[in-house]
Amino acid sequence: MSELNQLRVVFLLSLSLFFCAERVGAQQTAAETSSPTASPSSTPAVFSAPTLAELKRLQQAALTSDYAYRQVAHLSNNIGPRLTGSAQAAKAVEYVASELKVIGCEVQLEKVTVPHWVRGEETAALVQFPGQAVNTTQKIVLCALGPSVATPPNGIEAEVIVVRNFDELKSLSREKVAGKIVLFNYPFDKQMAAEGRGGEAYGEAVFYRSNGPVAAARQGAIACLIRSVGGADYRLPHTGETDYVNDAPKIPAGAVTAEDADLIADLVRQGPVRLKLVITPQTLPDIESANVIADIKGSEHPEQMIVVSGHLDSWDLGTGAIDDGAGVAVSMETANLVQKLHLKPKRTIRVIAWMNEENGLAGSKQYAKDHEKEWMNHFAAMETDGGADHPLGINI
Ligand SMILES: [Zn+2]
Repeated sequence: MSELNQLRVVFLLSLSLFFCAERVGAQQTAAETSSPTASPSSTPAVFSAPTLAELKRLQQAALTSDYAYRQVAHLSNNIGPRLTGSAQAAKAVEYVASELKVIGCEVQLEKVTVPHWVRGEETAALVQFPGQAVNTTQKIVLCALGPSVATPPNGIEAEVIVVRNFDELKSLSREKVAGKIVLFNYPFDKQMAAEGRGGEAYGEAVFYRSNGPVAAARQGAIACLIRSVGGADYRLPHTGETDYVNDAPKIPAGAVTAEDADLIADLVRQGPVRLKLVITPQTLPDIESANVIADIKGSEHPEQMIVVSGHLDSWDLGTGAIDDGAGVAVSMETANLVQKLHLKPKRTIRVIAWMNEENGLAGSKQYAKDHEKEWMNHFAAMETDGGADHPLGINI
């Protein structure tokens, strides 16, 4: 399937929100009128003929529209990576707000204070390892995890300890780990992913990214590396968030590529390996940003909302097309088609482009706080953030 078609299918999934709006009432009616019967009955018609006709029009319009695709292209190619706090994230807020105004939504920017972490230099090399040729080192490809602290500007050098999981780390004495660099070599389960359980495989490996640096720090390590999460080849490191805690030292944290993790693990099995590590990210003061909120008011229950959303921020090593430009664009397309077809939803359709999903969730937390009194009026909510590949279903 082409990317354009994939987006169209994702958009069609988001139409299920319209179903939600009518279905509750309709199902109650069906239950009230049905009587016990010995043989299975056919599925009752839960949508009125006019609703079904409108859904059909939406479906057809979605299959021929390239609006969502063009929005993803603009967010990714013209604006680029949208790390929270960056100029690109600010530009994306402005852009999405103005695009949603153009199609006639009531648009608000709701202020959010967000973290402002910026990537710096990130290099590493094996400087001592078994079988080493004279005067050589081996380059290691890695990236810092957000919100990693920095090494000193000219780096640190230490022996590397490789563990596969937390149990292996715990089995080592503190003396063995203290002053060393710990590498968690927990492999992403490609087999599980191939069986359609990519999310689960990702979650298992992310556990080490989230909690590995703290666990290593508690045993005295001076830096922590993880094997990149995900099934990528071509020696690409994969960034993401790690979670520091207040009662453990914050040590520099990075992700090496899967190939480099295998390399280091193999050499460590043979003898002592020393790594020179330079990562110089910075945590700047918090900065003001915004969630973009765009409403198409409901004709019967304007106070009741159906949220269709994606997150506007992204990590900085790609352009945030799939994670989550696609989710934002699909949500924008929802509003675009409803307007274009002059449909009048009974409840308010609220498009939200969330800020700071990746490294802090400040946007959604702020929304929950600001809208606490209206929680009961949030009739349904959806965030499209599971990728924009071949859709396999919908989670409710
Ligand atoms: Zn995402």
